[in-house]
Amino acid sequence: MNDSDEDHEYSDDSDSLETSLREGPMDFAIGIPSSFGSFFGLLPSRSVPTVCRFCPGYIQPSFSTTSCAASTSAEGTSSDRTTPWYTCPPDQEHVLCQCCFQPMPKNWSGVIPAQSIPPQKCAICSKYFCHILWGCKKAGCLGCLNKFTEFPVREGNLAVLINKNLYESKILKDYLTQQNLSKEDFLHRCLQKLDSKEYTTTDGGSHELTSSTVLCYKCGWRNFQELAYQFRRDIPRDQLPDSFRQRTDCYWGRNCRTQSMPHHASNFNHICEQTRFT
Ligand SMILES: [Zn+2]
Ligand SMILES: [Zn+2]
Ligand SMILES: [Zn+2]
Ligand SMILES: [Zn+2]
Ligand SMILES: [Zn+2]
Repeated sequence: MNDSDEDHEYSDDSDSLETSLREGPMDFAIGIPSSFGSFFGLLPSRSVPTVCRFCPGYIQPSFSTTSCAASTSAEGTSSDRTTPWYTCPPDQEHVLCQCCFQPMPKNWSGVIPAQSIPPQKCAICSKYFCHILWGCKKAGCLGCLNKFTEFPVREGNLAVLINKNLYESKILKDYLTQQNLSKEDFLHRCLQKLDSKEYTTTDGGSHELTSSTVLCYKCGWRNFQELAYQFRRDIPRDQLPDSFRQRTDCYWGRNCRTQSMPHHASNFNHICEQTRFT
């Protein structure tokens, strides 16, 4: 008897939960194309047209209630480019920013000269991001799409920049401090070497990659790490701490998976190529 009461109460609860999801205040999530449905797995699909910031009748969603409430910055760091300079026609196709999942125009109507359309796609992974278009508003977004020269280097990035090896990353960081180079100066030094083809990256082998290539944060970070490794490798030995020069090379070199362990990282040099393969 008790059991069936509980069952009944439980099913009441689940009904009301479902109702609140269906009619909840998440208006910003409506009209997402079905291919993106998995991001909103709990929401039933609705056939409401997508409305972006350039659509007539657009209403600003409340970002402060979304999942990143823990983040220190309530909004992205970019300036807010809200003045609409384009109006979506009724049949406008939209695409979702893969950072904030807000829609933006995909194919622009012919009145806009092609060269004035801001980049919306990463040149490496081809994913769409809204940051250059109008400033991404996802909480904590530092810039999900940027020219490589404007890649947002975080202070915390430097601690793990070289192969997640804290020791080699610290050597680099100390060197930058000693040379009075800011993290932006450092990025630009690396990019000069990329442009002059002294430094290369894996993605650079398969794509045209220069300092002005537009990259998403993830692809920018991956390529910056590769450039930083080469910069670190090129620091003259006599400018490194004594303790560094006494270490022998790890067999697995830069590919070593144990270098994330501080003890191993401090005992062996990992700024070298792999010499053992079995
Ligand atoms: Zn629109
Ligand atoms: Zn990318
Ligand atoms: Zn965005
Ligand atoms: Zn973003
Ligand atoms: Zn090792």
